[in-house]
This record gives sequence, C-alpha cells and structure tokens, in this order.
Amino acid sequence: MTRPKSAMEIFALLEKSNCQECGRKTCLAFAGAVYTGHKSIQDCPRLTPEVIARYRGESSACEAGEQNGEDYLQKLLAAVRQTDLAAAAARIGAHYEDGRLALKIMGKDFKVDAQGRLSADIHVNPWVAVPFLHYVLYAQGVPASGNWVSLRELAEGKERYPLFQKRCEAAMQRVADIYPDLFNDMVHLFSARRVPQQFQSDISVVLEPLPMVPIMICYWRPEDGMASSLKVYFDAAAGQNLDIGALFTLGTGLAAMFEKLALRHGFEVDRPVG
Ligand code: SF4
Repeated sequence: MTRPKSAMEIFALLEKSNCQECGRKTCLAFAGAVYTGHKSIQDCPRLTPEVIARYRGESSACEAGEQNGEDYLQKLLAAVRQTDLAAAAARIGAHYEDGRLALKIMGKDFKVDAQGRLSADIHVNPWVAVPFLHYVLYAQGVPASGNWVSLRELAEGKERYPLFQKRCEAAMQRVADIYPDLFNDMVHLFSARRVPQQFQSDISVVLEPLPMVPIMICYWRPEDGMASSLKVYFDAAAGQNLDIGALFTLGTGLAAMFEKLALRHGFEVDRPVG
C-alpha cells in the first residue's frame, strides 16, 4: 500500500474529467477528500484496479479524525494551504478580505488564511474547526432546501446513526431534562431561533453552525410517565455541503458544548455507564 504525501499526488492519478460519479463536484475535491480520509480511493469508478490496489486502505470516512483529532486537523490545514480561498469564499458565500476567508458560526466570526492560520472571536475547539475547514474546502454551496431529515436519512448516515443517537441526541436530551434555560441560551448565546413546533414537539429551535448547514433540535417534554425525547434534524441538502463525518462531529460537538454550559450553571449531567 502506498501512502500519498499530498492531495495533489492523488489528484495526479485521476482522469480530471470532473464527472462527479464519486459524489464530489470535481476531481480536486475528491483528491482532497481522499487525502483527509473522507473518501476512499476506490470511490472513483474511473481508476484502474491497479491504482486502487496500490492506494486502498487509507483512512476512510472520518475514522482518522475520530482517532486523532489533531492529526486530522493538520491534514485539513495542509489542504487549505493548497486552496484558492477567494474562489472558496465565492463558492460558499463567505467573506474574503486581506487574504482571509471569514464565516459566521453561531454568530461568531471564524477566519482562516492562506497559511492555514485559524482565528475566531471565541476559543477554537477541534469540533468547530474540523467542520469549518471541511466546509471551506469541500462544500458545494447548495442552499438549504427547507426539508428536515434525520442523520440516518442522509447518505452513509444509517450506519453512523446509532452512535450519533447516543453521543448527540441522548446527550442533549439529558441536558434539556435538567437545564430549563437550555433553549433560551441557545437563542441568546448562539444566535439560534425558535421556529413553530415541528413534528408535534414542544420546542423546536434552529441553529446555524455553518451558513448552509442549519440544524434543528426538537424536544418533547416528559409527559404522563413517558420519558422526554430529543431529536436532531439536518437539512436534506446538508450532505452536499458537509460529509457525514463532519456532520457527526458537528452534532456531537454541540452536545458536548451544551453539557459544559449546564455544568457552568451548576447542573450536573448524569452520563450513562458504558
Ligand atoms: S469519479 Fe473520478 S474522475 Fe469522476 S469526478 Fe470523481 S474523481 Fe474525478
């Protein structure tokens, strides 16, 4: 097995037709996704079996990111250094000035420059940095459709959903059960907006962790001996702007942030064993 040293090395192997059969808009985007572990080399049906055999086995679908967050972040930053940020800003509707691309994430400015330096109004956690960079590098710039779906309904979401349910939805539900101001804080601290209750929930709130990747959180209060419930929905077009691994990171990162917020307000969140 050969380990590629850069996205450009992978790009050199491709036929550069931008046919999109791999699910990416361009061969360059596909090369970047393979390099960062979000695609497998065999996802390009136009490569010869010999090339696939030589490179197959590289990290796939964000496993690298989950195993080693810092290493994965560095790979994304390396890919940024090979990217035309002005063109990326035009593609995703971001602001570009003085060599820096800037986006609002939940009301806060996040920036990256051509040297791969990140800056933000707040502390940059890897769970924000990874989806932010992934969005800058690979988002197709598809506007939200207005149709809400569960993670399991998105491409490659089915196998990821059980862990997402545990680490994101169940974790947020535990916070919502004990922390009465959670949804108000989402509105006031993170620029969320209340929307008319969806799916017969008691509370529905929409957050915009990335401009074209809104997330809706619906909460059903406990009632008549029935436990509460909380579900997280993505826009049906989300998969065209972030891959499933980055969406997973975004959801679980939000859950961890809400847990910390509850703790700061003196509410201890019970975590299940195992
Ligand atoms: S399927 Fe292969 S040739 Fe077609 S766009 Fe993707 S990487 Fe390029």
